[in-house]
Amino acid sequence: MSANTTNLLQLIARCGRCGKCRSVCPVFAELSNEPMVARGKVQLYKAILNGTLEHTEHYRRIISYCLLCRQCEEYCPNGVPTARLVLAAREQAAKKLSLPFVKKNVLQHFLTNEGRLNLAARGLALYQQSGLQGLVRKTGILPGIWKEKETLLPPIAAAPLRSGLPGIIAPPGRTRMRVGYFTGCMSNYIYTETGKNVVKVLNAAGCEVVIPDQLCCGMPALVSGEHSSFMYMAQRNRASFQATGVEALVVDCATCGSAWKQDYPAAGLDLPFPVYDISEFLARADLHPGRLETQVRVTYHDPCHLVRYQDITKQPRELLRTIDGVELAEMNNANQCCGASGSFQLEHHAISSAIGRKKSTVILATGADIVATGCPSCRMQIERSLREAGSSAVVVHTVDLLAMSM
Ligand code: SF4
Ligand code: SF4
Repeated sequence: MSANTTNLLQLIARCGRCGKCRSVCPVFAELSNEPMVARGKVQLYKAILNGTLEHTEHYRRIISYCLLCRQCEEYCPNGVPTARLVLAAREQAAKKLSLPFVKKNVLQHFLTNEGRLNLAARGLALYQQSGLQGLVRKTGILPGIWKEKETLLPPIAAAPLRSGLPGIIAPPGRTRMRVGYFTGCMSNYIYTETGKNVVKVLNAAGCEVVIPDQLCCGMPALVSGEHSSFMYMAQRNRASFQATGVEALVVDCATCGSAWKQDYPAAGLDLPFPVYDISEFLARADLHPGRLETQVRVTYHDPCHLVRYQDITKQPRELLRTIDGVELAEMNNANQCCGASGSFQLEHHAISSAIGRKKSTVILATGADIVATGCPSCRMQIERSLREAGSSAVVVHTVDLLAMSM
C-alpha cells in the first residue's frame, strides 16, 4: 500500500459515522440517498482504496454528486476533509475509467489552449448573436440531452475581455503598486464588463494593472480528476505572472482564487507573490467609492469558494457599506451553496436547479433589487434561478457596484 493511500485511509478513518453531514449537505437534501452524503462517499472511497470495490461508471456517477461546497466539513466534528477526498477519488476514477469524450477533449485540448478557446467562444457568440440560436430553439432540432444543455449556455461576449485590453494599464496618478490581474474564463468570455470594472477600480486605487497571457485556472480539470491538464494550466499561469514581476496577484473569481491560493501550492507550485481576491485586496486599499444615482437594496451571497475556502465574508460587505446609496439587506443563510459548482450545473441540472430555487427564495424574501456576489459561477446560477422565479432583481459582482459609484 502506497504512503498516499495510507494517508487517505487515515483521513477516512476520522469519520465516526455520526451522520451530522446529512443535515447540511445540499445534495443529500434533494436526493436523501446515503451514498450522496459525505459519510457515504468516504465509505465508498475507503472500499475502493482497500480493493473491496471496483471502479464502475455507477461509482463514478455517485462521486460526481458533490458540489465540493464543504458545508459538511464545517459541521463535521472529526474534521473529515470530504472535498479533498472526493477530489482524490475523482482523480483515481479518471485514471481507471476514461472521461467522457466531449469532456476529455474540452479539458485537454481547449482549456489548455487560449487560441482554441477564443475560437470556440467566437463561434458560440456568433451562434447566439446571428439568430441561429433562436432558430435552433424554435425548431427543437437538437437531440434530448443537448437540447437541455443548450438552454444553459450563457451569453458569450462578442470579443474576449483580454483581446480588448493592453497588457499594462497604468493608473491616472502616481503608481502605488504593480498588480497582476488573473481574469479567469468567466470575466474573459462572459462577464467582460466586470473585468473592465476590476481594472477601473484597481486603477482608482493607484494600481498599475498587468494582464499577461493566461489560461483557465485549471479548476474544471482538477474537479474532474484530469490532473495532468490541471498541472499544465497551473504551471503556465504561474510562469506567465512570474515573468511580469508583479507585487501581488488579484483574482475576481472565488474559484480561480482558491485554485491559486490552495491548489497551486498543494500541487507543489510556490508563488513568488501574494494572491488576493479582489474584495480582500480592495478592503485594504485606499479606495473612495462614491454615490449611486439611486438608492438600492442589495443582498450579498457568499460563494463557497470565498467563505469556506478563503475565509472571506467581511470584506465584500465592508466594501458594499462604503458605497453611498447601498442599503445592505442580509439574506438568511447567505453562505449556503447556491448549487452552481461549475460543471455540476450542466451534469446534474435538475438538482442544481432545485438547490438554486432555495437560494432564490431567501433572496426574494429580502426584497433586494440587486444581489452582489464574488463568484461568476454563482452569479450565473442565481441569475437563472431568479429569472425562473419571475424576479427582475439583478445579479452583479461586488466590484461592479463599486465601479458604478465611482
Ligand atoms: S459529519 Fe463527519 S464524522 Fe460524522 S458522518 Fe459525516 S463525515 Fe463522518
Ligand atoms: S462537499 Fe457539499 S455537496 Fe459534497 S458531500 Fe459535503 S456538503 Fe455534500
